[in-house]
Amino acid sequence: MSRTPYHAVVARNVFDGVTVLDDHAVIIEGAHIVDVVPRNDLPAPVPAYALPGGAWLAPGFIDVQVNGGGDVLFNDTPTPAGVNAIAAAHRRYGTTGLLPTLISDTPEKMRVAMAAAQSAAGANPSVLGIHFEGPFLSPEKPGVHKPAMFRDPEPRDLELLTGWPAGTVLVTLAPERVPAEFIASLVQAGVRVSLGHSMATYAETQAALTAGLTGFTHLFNAMRPLASREPGPIAAALEAPAAWFGMIVDGAHVAPEMLRLALRGAAHPMLVTDAMPPVGGARSSFTLYGQEITVRDGRCTRADGTLAGAAIDMASCVRNSVRDLHVPLTSALRFASTEPAEFLGLGTMLGRLAPGFRADMVAFDPSDVRVLGTWVAGESEHDVAPERVRA
Ligand code: ZN
Repeated sequence: MSRTPYHAVVARNVFDGVTVLDDHAVIIEGAHIVDVVPRNDLPAPVPAYALPGGAWLAPGFIDVQVNGGGDVLFNDTPTPAGVNAIAAAHRRYGTTGLLPTLISDTPEKMRVAMAAAQSAAGANPSVLGIHFEGPFLSPEKPGVHKPAMFRDPEPRDLELLTGWPAGTVLVTLAPERVPAEFIASLVQAGVRVSLGHSMATYAETQAALTAGLTGFTHLFNAMRPLASREPGPIAAALEAPAAWFGMIVDGAHVAPEMLRLALRGAAHPMLVTDAMPPVGGARSSFTLYGQEITVRDGRCTRADGTLAGAAIDMASCVRNSVRDLHVPLTSALRFASTEPAEFLGLGTMLGRLAPGFRADMVAFDPSDVRVLGTWVAGESEHDVAPERVRA
């Protein structure tokens, strides 16, 4: 890793989050971007480094749902070291910001996980907050969560979940399992609330949106399906221009046709990995709640066949979006960065390459979205080092 206080990164294609700029340079000072200029307009004293050939430079990927990586499961290792190991594993695939995600667990584990994320975030700018997926979920849609962990919210939950104003806290819940005031109280405190593992009706989802819910966790999976007379949360999501939905584009969780349908709605798409420990790790199995989960043909499954998160990285999600969702690369890059930044309320700091934004970037080969290097708050890590083109 290295940090040069004042320098420029030059690329043949710079995607700034809105448009592709031809042969431009991103000028970085410390942790931030100070300017994006045509290569020929670089001020004379700036040391400049060029990416190889036709490489692209884009806003770093932001993943709001990461259960694990590098052979570490957050539920099993809720420590700052565990969080850092997960972040490091995903960084190799272009993720420069993430929310470690705790699958439904005990109140004590939730407290420990919160403390671990806060501590890790203090020294690691790629740790943007924490995602609690559960435990206020529907026993009818547990997925791989343990229904015995599901419970009703108590006052101490509100205290915990609203206890990190400087970080981004995301809570996935089933709106039909909590009072509307609980959602409103979370949202008023700055917490992001997302529907998931839910049997909410269309009307219940509308009420939750009115209370401030803005997210839909892995849309289509573990929620009431679209049906002729009960449209449920999916129809409500796709009608909501101020909502975001997570997509796991691994070819296993949702048929691409369904995701293409979702892209025609009003809500904003975000790529998430829902990643488990094998991503960026060496082992092909792990345990969750004491049960063995195995990766086979790119799927993480329990012995009974239940999908248990995913074995995909963000660069592959971007690649698959172009191939299977038929979107331009620039749209896939927005789904991987600009949209999640906006969802988290960090859209003026992350998700774009523009003056004032944090220097979180990814360099990659556009032919296969192979990651060549990343920058987090101006600090770089490279597989293929940029060439110094000017002293
Ligand atoms: Zn889930």
